[in-house]
Amino acid sequence: MRKVSRRTFVLGGLAVAGATAATAAAAAPSVLATTPYPFKLGVASGEPLPDGVVLWTRLAPSPLNADGQGGMPNANITVDWQVSTNDRFTSLAASGSVTALYADAHSVHVEVSGLNPDFDYFYRFRAQGHISPVGRTRTAPAFGAAGRDLLMAFASCAHWEAGYFTAYRRLAEDRPELVLHLGDYIYEDAATAGSVRENVGAEIVSLADYRRRYAQYKMDPDLQAAHAIAPWLCVPDDHEVENNYAGTVRENNTPALTAAQWTARRSAAYRALWENLPLRNAQKYSGNSIPLFRRIRWGSLATFHMLDARQYRHDQACGDGWKVCSDADLATRSLPGNAQETWLLDGLGQRLGTWDILGQQVFFARRFDAAGAASMDSWDGYRASRARIQNGWVARGVRNPVVLTGDVHRSWGNNLKADYANANSAVIGTELVTTSISSGGNGSGSTTIPDVANNPHLKFYSDHRGYVRTLITPTQIQADFRAVATVTEHGAAASTLRSFVIQEGLPGLQNL
Ligand code: FE
Ligand code: CA
Repeated sequence: MRKVSRRTFVLGGLAVAGATAATAAAAAPSVLATTPYPFKLGVASGEPLPDGVVLWTRLAPSPLNADGQGGMPNANITVDWQVSTNDRFTSLAASGSVTALYADAHSVHVEVSGLNPDFDYFYRFRAQGHISPVGRTRTAPAFGAAGRDLLMAFASCAHWEAGYFTAYRRLAEDRPELVLHLGDYIYEDAATAGSVRENVGAEIVSLADYRRRYAQYKMDPDLQAAHAIAPWLCVPDDHEVENNYAGTVRENNTPALTAAQWTARRSAAYRALWENLPLRNAQKYSGNSIPLFRRIRWGSLATFHMLDARQYRHDQACGDGWKVCSDADLATRSLPGNAQETWLLDGLGQRLGTWDILGQQVFFARRFDAAGAASMDSWDGYRASRARIQNGWVARGVRNPVVLTGDVHRSWGNNLKADYANANSAVIGTELVTTSISSGGNGSGSTTIPDVANNPHLKFYSDHRGYVRTLITPTQIQADFRAVATVTEHGAAASTLRSFVIQEGLPGLQNL
């Protein structure tokens, strides 16, 4: 790599933060370095508090090495970090050093504190004589302060083989101040010949496999741009472990695993998940589980209740095609598990902010097909649990509940009803469902709501790839359903298919 000045490094990184550079890692030069460039997986931040944020990176000069260690030696490496109020780093708001452990696949999770509330910052790392790309992040407003209006985008379901992550690039170009990722950040399947671009290796099972799969994804420059533009709040769905698992139960024994091997697989998946996302130590894996449900307060404007809708499901999972749920199952079993349900209702009852936003994975509103059947891998498969939550927020006087959803690879905009069987029943909440970044390929382009006669509360549908952009203010949320025309070719433009407004104190979607 050519020698350039320190100032040029910063500008090179900034271009990435502004999401205008072609690539993050490839453009970053080295200085005083005799080792290969280690920041090929980019940088990230997450979990904003009024006084701090998590900064993430992972050293991996050879990201696709089969051992999952990214080409790093079996040694712990010092990583310096800096936070500045400007993108030239002429004055530092915070700085320090941290040790990237071999045992953590040389990932670092720096929990910065002492920052100002509701404030924009820039950050970067240095290791082995190399400087990382620059990321942009921000803190939450102080508890009780409204703060500035919040531009927030959310996304889910990025399948490497199905297409390019152009939608992540377009999301970054919108310059959101917060990004929610609602799951299927990676997919676990084997390489498929003839894909738009192929996975590396067989279906992932071991810790090395999961680490390498994250590394492959995180080399994507569009994903790196989306991380570098704003702090993220991440919750996984099924594919971070295995398709359609529920609680501790697998859909089928493919690939064939013993019970002990399945437990080890979950442990490996949760460990690699923590290593590769900007999560706090409070979310660190423990054996074959990971404590992910949590609340992030955004001043008096909003509270984000980030849910884990996968890990605590009733063990006797039933689902379409593999075990149909009995009425008794539907009446009793919980999707988030009883402890998380209680935690959610307690948090909603505190009414900490104007908007109570549930960041979660699977379809929440009732959705029946023409025959009156529903997906069991959704809240329809746990409808008593959904009723407890909806009735719970009504009973607690929650004015503005908004459910955010991923998983289904389509966009939907839904009114939530006290009684889905009664068309005249009150609208008691709103659901925004983001389509996939790439999963499912280009999509049909249809915007005809399926089976709408059975589901009059479902107000919008589209089969495009994209994301949802929201502008959250004390008086309304504007939601823009964003779409890209293609993902099998790289670099399509994004457009807004449809916008809705949710007015404070008036649940449900209003046409804009
Ligand atoms: Fe998905
Ligand atoms: Ca999913």
